[in-house]
Amino acid sequence: MSNEIIGKIKETVELAEKEIKNIKNNDELEQWRIKYLGRSGFILSFTREISSMHDDLKPLAGKEINKLKKILTGLYEEKKKEIDLSYVINELGHKKEVLIYTYPGREPDFAYFHPITIITKSMINIFKKMGFGIWTGPEIETDYYNFSALNTPENHPARDMWDTFYLDYSKGILLRTHTSPIQIRTMERFKPPFRIIAVGKCFRKDAFDSSHSPVFHQMEGLMVGFDINFAHLKGALIYFLRELFGAEIKVRFLPAYFPFTEPSAEISISCVICKGKGCSTCGGTGWLEILGAGMIHPEVFKNIARKEPSYSPDKITGFAFGMGIERIAMLKYCINDIRHFYNNDIRFLTQFRLNLGDNNEILL
Ligand SMILES: [Zn+2]
Repeated sequence: MSNEIIGKIKETVELAEKEIKNIKNNDELEQWRIKYLGRSGFILSFTREISSMHDDLKPLAGKEINKLKKILTGLYEEKKKEIDLSYVINELGHKKEVLIYTYPGREPDFAYFHPITIITKSMINIFKKMGFGIWTGPEIETDYYNFSALNTPENHPARDMWDTFYLDYSKGILLRTHTSPIQIRTMERFKPPFRIIAVGKCFRKDAFDSSHSPVFHQMEGLMVGFDINFAHLKGALIYFLRELFGAEIKVRFLPAYFPFTEPSAEISISCVICKGKGCSTCGGTGWLEILGAGMIHPEVFKNIARKEPSYSPDKITGFAFGMGIERIAMLKYCINDIRHFYNNDIRFLTQFRLNLGDNNEILL
C-alpha cells in the first residue's frame, strides 16, 4: 500500500513538471494549480487515501505527501514569477504604461508657492492693472541712496527710525532698510512721468519675534509727473486696498511724518477680522495700520535734479507709498506669527496652500 502511494506520487511529480513546462499564461497556471493543489486536487486525494492505511504506514506516507506538496508549490511559484516577468518584458516594448500591481503607489511631489510669493504676485497684479511697472534694485546700498537722497542726511534724527546693518560704516555701505533707494535709482534713470512698484527684501536690526523679523519684504510705489496730487495717491491706494481685501473695507488716512514725503499719511483699513468692531488683532480699535505714504518732498526732487534736471521741484510732483508684504500676508491669510514664513515647516506651507481655497490668486 505504501509503495503504491509512493509510486503514484512519483508519477504525479513527473506529470506536473511536464504540464507546467508548457504553461504560457496565468489562466493556464490557475487550471494547473486547481488540478494539483486545489480542493479536489491530487494532494487532498492522497491525503484522504492515508486515512484508510495501516497506522504503521501513515507517517511515511504523510511525509511523502508533504514532500510532494512542497515540490508542487515550488513549481507553481517559480512559474508564476516567470509569467509575470515575461509579461513586463514583452509588454514594455508595446505599451507606454505597465501596471505592476504588486508595487506600492508613489506620492507625486508637488511644488508649492511660498505664501510671500503668492501675496506678492497678487499685489503686483493689482498695480499692473493701474499701469504700474515693476522695478527692483540692489540689497547692498550706499548711505546716499538709503538715507541722504531721501532727505535724511547724516545726524538727521529720522535716521534713528531705522536700525541699520552696516557692512562698512566708514564707507557708508549698508543693507538697505527699505525699498526706497529703488525709487531714487529709478528717477535718476528715467525722466518723468512714470509710475512703478519697487519690490524686495529689506534689513533692520529688529528682534525676531512674532511680529518682527530682521529680514522682511517691502513693496513701494512711486508716481511722478507734471500734475500729480494727493487725490491721485488716495485713488490709487483705495483701489489697491479694496481689490486686495474686498470692496467693503473702509480706508482711513491720518497725518504722519516721514522725512521723504510732505504731507505724509498713515493709512489704515477697517479690521478684516472683526469688521471694525474691535478685536485682539486690531487692538480693539477696529483699524489696522497698513501703509505709509505721501507727496514726495521737494528736497528729494532737488537731490535727483542734480543728476537729472527734469526733476526740478518747480515742475514735478509725485507720490510714494510703502508697505510690509509680510504684514499684508498675515492679515490676508490670518497668520498670527511672522516666524511661520521663515521656518520652512512643510506642514505650515502645505496647510496654508490648502486653506487658500478660492483665494489662491496666483496669476503667472
Ligand atoms: Zn479687529
